[in-house]
Amino acid sequence: MRISNREFLYLLVIKGVNDKGSGATIFGVAKALGISTASAYEEINHLIRKGLAEKRGDGIYITEEGIREMNSLIRAHRVIETLLVKAGIDPDKACELAKMFDETLPEEVVEKLYEYLGRPSKCPHGREIPST
Ligand SMILES: [Zn+2]
Repeated sequence: MRISNREFLYLLVIKGVNDKGSGATIFGVAKALGISTASAYEEINHLIRKGLAEKRGDGIYITEEGIREMNSLIRAHRVIETLLVKAGIDPDKACELAKMFDETLPEEVVEKLYEYLGRPSKCPHGREIPST
């Protein structure tokens, strides 16, 4: 099962802080997402339990597994988008629609679509489709 778009958002914020060289804090994540610290605390603990993030030294860090899961969701999203645009759907609408399937479409189906589309390297918005 792929991570949800909600989990993705949290991981994106944590990774953004990590990429700048430090650990994320519950307060910082809450502020970035415009939510209460209680909600951030709960969701971050959930991510830690799933092995997608971990507490280390000065704060919270995304794990290798977390990064892999983010890439998997991005890949599913962009493959679906590419298919929808190829079928004649407007790119922005395709992005919106892709969010209805990207969390749940099985990996094998994403890979079948990817092959069917001729192994595209970029999505309709020109962003790279990450490899598995
Ligand atoms: Zn999109």
